[in-house]
Amino acid sequence: MLLQNRAVVALGLRMCSTQVAKGPLMDKARQSSDMSEFRQVFSKAKHIAIITGAGVSAESGVPTFRGENEKWRKWLSQDLATPEAFSRTPSRVWEFYHYRRELVMSKRPNAAHLAIAECEGRLKKQGRSVVVITQCIDDLHRQAGSKNVLKIHGSLQETRCMTCGNVTVNRRSPICAALKGKGAPGPDVPDAQIPVDKLPRCEEIDCHGLLRPNVVFFGETLDSHILTKVEKEMEICDLCLVVGTSSIVYPAAMFGPRVAARGIPVAEFNTQVSPKTEYFTYHFQGPCGTTLPPALAQHESEVM
Ligand SMILES: [Zn+2]
Repeated sequence: MLLQNRAVVALGLRMCSTQVAKGPLMDKARQSSDMSEFRQVFSKAKHIAIITGAGVSAESGVPTFRGENEKWRKWLSQDLATPEAFSRTPSRVWEFYHYRRELVMSKRPNAAHLAIAECEGRLKKQGRSVVVITQCIDDLHRQAGSKNVLKIHGSLQETRCMTCGNVTVNRRSPICAALKGKGAPGPDVPDAQIPVDKLPRCEEIDCHGLLRPNVVFFGETLDSHILTKVEKEMEICDLCLVVGTSSIVYPAAMFGPRVAARGIPVAEFNTQVSPKTEYFTYHFQGPCGTTLPPALAQHESEVM
């Protein structure tokens, strides 16, 4: 485990998508899908860290752009969500993000988002805490009512200026006039080739720099302030849930196994086993909108 942690540090905590080499097999006999056993652990936990990934958003109809049949035009997000693609073809990358922004604004939180938010509010009154550490760049956790959310891959609804670095919340639809009606995902749709001065621009006085989505592109380093907060949560949590993530995008893929290495119970909720399932104490298979609500519901021992 330590070696794997070092590997993450060696990567400079850059976001990368990769197949994971199999680690040493955990004793399978120790892994459980016993919900009543999990509920006992849950009822005693004081600091719960919930790591969420694309699967949670997918159940609200947000595409992940990670599979062959989830392309935008001819491309996957790995082709477009890169600093190189943005500097070469900012118009095309903005069309892609404009499409994703408009799409997520039409989506609603699902039962998994709502269960997490309800649990946070309820446990707070008992002096217990829930933190969401999410790889999702949509706004669905916040919409569901979650307050304590660390967005490690940034947000579709924020922009960052390429010139002055200013980060701004931006929920405008469309984000600029030139992108109105653009971004259609069909494989034969031609690039809009919007001139760079008509793309979203900074509104700071005397700046007018080109804006980019405030999301972490592939190959970029994660925000160190957010990572520091994540590190702290990983150290203090006494229960960790890994929800709707296939645990293949680093560094987030290591968060759950790191907590497990401390001897803290980690429960995975996913539609399938992941490369990291073997590290975890519990594995609950199925749509997280189905498996999570009963897991996080009020326990009989909770004093309200
Ligand atoms: Zn600026």
